[in-house]
Amino acid sequence: MDASIAPNGAVLLGNTVTCDGHWNRRLRVVTHAHSDHLWGLEESLQRCDQVISSPATVELVKILRGTGGLTPLPFGQPMEFNGERITLFEAGHILGSAQVLLERENGRRLLYTGDFCLHRTKVIQADTLVIEATYGHPEQVRKFKEELSQRMKELLERLLKSGPVHIFGYHGKLLEVLAMIKGFGLRVPILLPQRTFRLAQLGEKYGMKFPPYLPSTSEEGKKAKAGPHIVLYHTGAKRYIETRGYRITLSGWEFSHPWRQTAKRDYLVALSDHSDFEELMEYVQRSGPELVITDNYRVGDAPALASQIRKTLGIEAQAMP
Ligand SMILES: [Zn+2]
Repeated sequence: MDASIAPNGAVLLGNTVTCDGHWNRRLRVVTHAHSDHLWGLEESLQRCDQVISSPATVELVKILRGTGGLTPLPFGQPMEFNGERITLFEAGHILGSAQVLLERENGRRLLYTGDFCLHRTKVIQADTLVIEATYGHPEQVRKFKEELSQRMKELLERLLKSGPVHIFGYHGKLLEVLAMIKGFGLRVPILLPQRTFRLAQLGEKYGMKFPPYLPSTSEEGKKAKAGPHIVLYHTGAKRYIETRGYRITLSGWEFSHPWRQTAKRDYLVALSDHSDFEELMEYVQRSGPELVITDNYRVGDAPALASQIRKTLGIEAQAMP
């Protein structure tokens, strides 16, 4: 087998590469800056010849963890290492997220998707495919994904008529929602706490498009709070932030409706930065592999996904580890 997932979640490709977990190999790849893909990073920085990631991920890891020493490899630029060729492709999950293609001397193509969002990425042809399985169960389908943006726009317009709106989510999703809001044409100030403000600037540096936004602690930001406005907070702030108006929580684990009300002033919006079950299956089909390995280390349903790939697509598949 030329690809596998080790017991500690490290995704091993070819002879020399370990992705998203430390292993005794010469080259470590970090697909993106989420903590379940940064396991053993300090050890890899000490022991591997190189730790590579996309340029945006290099900067994100620095901002979010204070860790330096990663080597940037731009998307689509192949790197030869020990007789193998490694190329990163955009994964459309969070800022900087990458898929990893390893081409062997014998021409075999091994692809690890990392976390990805199908409608924002391209499918890479592979002989062996290692795929994430976050929404690997056949019931985990967001039927409304095409209309989510429109429903979110209507909800925001309605709520903003009677108060400010506070949106809570993880960093990657906050940037995604900020980009989404750009298309809504809302004429209200958008305020960002300091760290989110820095991340938004980084997103713009790497080509994301946002509406105008202000630091919430600036003089202008404080004044803006007198009228209707939107603030984007990291999920962790929910416990201690006092808010008036409405609260929207972004959740990837909602499959029944684009949004629903959970309390008098609380709403949940079904925004995910992962592919749903249908999109995972579509990726496998279009990639055309002989063998699929589903990631059974991170959150998800890898056995169910492997079983559906075998049954519906007739492709050999197994969950690992
Ligand atoms: Zn992730």
